[in-house]
Amino acid sequence: MNFLVTGGAGFIGYYLIKKLLDEGYQVVCLDNLSTGSLENVNCFIGNNNYKFIQGDVKDSELVNKLVKDCDMVYHLASVVGVKRVLGNIIETIKTGILGTENVLESVSRYGKKVMIFSTSEVYGKLIKKPLNEEDDVLYGRIHKSRWVYAYTKAIDEFLSIAYAEKGVDTVVVRLFNTVGPRQKMNYGMVLPNFVQQAIHNLPITVYGKGTQIRCFSYVEDVVNTIYELTFIKGISGEVFNIGNNEAVSISELAELVKKVANSSSPIIYIPYEEAYNKGFEDIKIRVPDVTKIHTLLGKNYFKTNLEQLIQKIVDYNYQKIQMKNQA
Ligand code: UDP
Repeated sequence: MNFLVTGGAGFIGYYLIKKLLDEGYQVVCLDNLSTGSLENVNCFIGNNNYKFIQGDVKDSELVNKLVKDCDMVYHLASVVGVKRVLGNIIETIKTGILGTENVLESVSRYGKKVMIFSTSEVYGKLIKKPLNEEDDVLYGRIHKSRWVYAYTKAIDEFLSIAYAEKGVDTVVVRLFNTVGPRQKMNYGMVLPNFVQQAIHNLPITVYGKGTQIRCFSYVEDVVNTIYELTFIKGISGEVFNIGNNEAVSISELAELVKKVANSSSPIIYIPYEEAYNKGFEDIKIRVPDVTKIHTLLGKNYFKTNLEQLIQKIVDYNYQKIQMKNQA
């Protein structure tokens, strides 16, 4: 099979492409390198099954050409990270909506298959544990730009379902806080931040009171789940939560990172308006109900627990520092 991975030069893209190449498939990576980076995918150069195209999912002509030549698309291209979204509202909407519409239209035209990557952010600020695919969603006011990502991804999901109703083979995966080595800290995400702070013995910055709850999933477990889902038939139009359901508060997370990294960092608390912008609304609790995906696959691919996951990120960062010192 021949796969097109949009946004393939990003953090998740790297792991997905690696898996597909390891399994012997052909992969074309399309990325405009706005969030993604060649650093992530240069390691694949030289593999005859791999090709990189620098371009934009908003370019319908290019998307048509690439979709025509592949069997299936993994559509990951997106602006990511709460802080990055806040600074790039128009681009977030354009990439999200125009990009996804281009991909779905091409997939429809050429009779291909697509997996649309969505996010747990689509549940918005709904306070419910765990969050089920059938639940209602709850978003904040339009003037709070924090919700742009949620609204945009929700439109992507509407599009996917609408195309499925027209007979297109399309499925949505809602990813919950996916983390692992190689994830960049400059998009403001919590675990890369905490680990960097801890290994440099700098203050670990907990935003708000630290009572907000998240579940962190190891990226390879996510990719293994998605890979298995790829080959299941008869799921067009469906939406799946994908993630680990081991819940942790952000202040507990800070303590755990400090312990695993053997760090002397103090843990400090920063008000939301200082960390983001005035009136910023955080999501209080986000835990997935993963019954649907586990029942379908007959197996839970999430085998890395939070402590092991933090250990992997810490080890990777220490190795990077060592390599830099040796160079
Ligand atoms: N957060 C934090 N310190 C940081 C970065 C983030 O306390 O240095 C908090 C953030 O406010 C949120 C949680 O950690 O409550 C997860 O943030 P992230 O941006 O990683 O993901 P999301 O909010 O999309 O779940």
